[in-house]
Amino acid sequence: MECQLTIVRTEQKKEKPALDKLGFGVHFTDHMFTMDYTEGKGWHDPQIVPHAPLTLDPAAMVLHYGQAIFEGMKAYRNKAGKVLLFRPEQNFKRMNRSLERMSMPQVDGEFMVDALKQLVALEKEWIPAESGMSLYIRPFVIATEPCFGVRPSHTYKLIIVLSPVGAYYANGMEPVKIYVENKYVRAVRGGTGNAKVAGNYAGALKAQAEAKEKGYEQVLWLDGVENKYIEEVGSMNVFFKVGEEVWTPALNGSILEGITRDSTIHLLKDWGIPVVEKRISVEELYEAYTKGQLEEAFGTGTAAVISPVGDLNWNGHQMILNGEKTGPLTTKLYETMTGIQYGEKEDKFGWSVEVSE
Ligand SMILES: *Cc1c(COP(=O)(O)O)cnc(C)c1O
Repeated sequence: MECQLTIVRTEQKKEKPALDKLGFGVHFTDHMFTMDYTEGKGWHDPQIVPHAPLTLDPAAMVLHYGQAIFEGMKAYRNKAGKVLLFRPEQNFKRMNRSLERMSMPQVDGEFMVDALKQLVALEKEWIPAESGMSLYIRPFVIATEPCFGVRPSHTYKLIIVLSPVGAYYANGMEPVKIYVENKYVRAVRGGTGNAKVAGNYAGALKAQAEAKEKGYEQVLWLDGVENKYIEEVGSMNVFFKVGEEVWTPALNGSILEGITRDSTIHLLKDWGIPVVEKRISVEELYEAYTKGQLEEAFGTGTAAVISPVGDLNWNGHQMILNGEKTGPLTTKLYETMTGIQYGEKEDKFGWSVEVSE
């Protein structure tokens, strides 16, 4: 790929939103990265340009057959002014796995990390330096060819947009109530569950809405074949502290391989805590609960980092975890992970990547 990144700076910088009104993914920075793909030519014309609406033919294949994948990551700025990315090369490796699954062309991961660093450096002023706040990074790829034929598109666009986001836990970490989903499934073996595909999210909205009506914030997804084995919680991976061990569902082809999941496993093992990756039936989990062994549960993902679960409802069987308070292991993981992300704790695994200007 002979790529010269061109930069077109905006002539009018936007006013930045107040830090207490950031929310999640509603404000966007001044610039975005875009790059085009044409069959026979490969990826071309990488550029950083002002954030603006796209011009897209209404017959563009993404709008009809959903050839669209995305990533989610963050840039963190600490009090000393240092700007850090967290394992960004992993996001582009996963992007390539998602692209492959959706019959879309591969990208050069190293080139992408480099382009992202340039974009983030340019938008540095948009990264809030307050604890818990960060710059959310959304890379995505869409099929742009105008055609109703059912086949992979011959043209694509890769875009990265940036959004300053507030602290996920505005009032400290609050455990969430989870409904064990028994009607809908998120993914099945052989499907697209292990790729970060836009359509997976659209298909999950209804279950989430119905759980909300019942008074729960999210659903615990079970496997799509037997409807017995635990897969994920909302759009996060899930962990359970059972006695002296920590259990998490083994990757099985329908679970999305989270980077926060992998980082959590590394930290736990480093602390000498046995991590068991296995098939976990909800029945086995309930049994551990009735024996008093299920001490903590939490979700992992880039947006919330670590999200404690306080209450699980499985067909009317209620599991109250750690008195609906955030448990000590959950707290330690959150503090360690965010400490590394902000460059305030020892980065023993070399996960942080500094953005230099
Ligand atoms: C993105 C995502 C996760 C979390 O992945 P991270 O890399 O930790 O942010 C988990 N489950 C699903 C379904 C996802 O889309």
